[in-house]
Amino acid sequence: MNEEWRITVWGVRGSAPRPSPDCMEHGGNTACISLDHGDHTVILDAGTGLSPLGQVLSARGGPKRLDILLSHLHIDHVLGLYSFSPFFDPDTEIHLYGGAGLERYLETLIGPPFWPLGMRDFPSKVGYHEIRPGDSFGLEGLTVSTMAGDHPGGSILYRLDGDGKRLTYALDCEAAGPVLPALTEFARGSGLLIWDASFAPSDLRPGWGHSTWEQGLELGRAAQAAQVLMTHYGWDCSDGALRRQELLAGQDGSCRFAKEGMAISL
Ligand SMILES: [Zn+2]
Ligand SMILES: [Zn+2]
Repeated sequence: MNEEWRITVWGVRGSAPRPSPDCMEHGGNTACISLDHGDHTVILDAGTGLSPLGQVLSARGGPKRLDILLSHLHIDHVLGLYSFSPFFDPDTEIHLYGGAGLERYLETLIGPPFWPLGMRDFPSKVGYHEIRPGDSFGLEGLTVSTMAGDHPGGSILYRLDGDGKRLTYALDCEAAGPVLPALTEFARGSGLLIWDASFAPSDLRPGWGHSTWEQGLELGRAAQAAQVLMTHYGWDCSDGALRRQELLAGQDGSCRFAKEGMAISL
């Protein structure tokens, strides 16, 4: 069956939340995007945007399996786990996917002395799935493929295929050097490429493990992606600064800058 994919943006920031009045147009939460297909929800990263998503999922009821694909464990990608309301529903199964040591690291991070509750205290069922970049696996009718991002400490890039559609999620990745040809192949033919636009082109800092919208557009063209969605903006980047970058990028149907609440259908 050719299901519609509904992609929703819940968090657009990298490194740290930015809940300031001069950021409310794009949003102040850190990385989190959901994909609904059929009755299933896949969540890409668990930044603070996961918290409002959790409220919507709890209110929606219905199917009780959630799959959260984590690019890595830098704090901007997991901070929303502390306030994810589905953890408090005993009928919910939450599956977390990430790199080596996933369970041990999350159980350290979420628990005393950093937080009053530990992962094992939540009433929901929690499953951990360690993946190595390069692995692929099936997930509720989707095929998930992975590759290593060029990022300090490593990151995992995800590609989701199913229903004749392809979504590539590539945050926290530097688009230079040997990773670029592999990344182009990985993203080839994507209906949507979600990209790390942490830096404005004039501020790019090689070695920091992030990229620019300009590199995202080049990659999107090389990979023949239909649309590129820019996100993971620097926490110090105001709406005004982002609007200037949007003008430079010349947004059309193939290039969009993410805003919290934005929905895209594939
Ligand atoms: Zn990040
Ligand atoms: Zn990172």
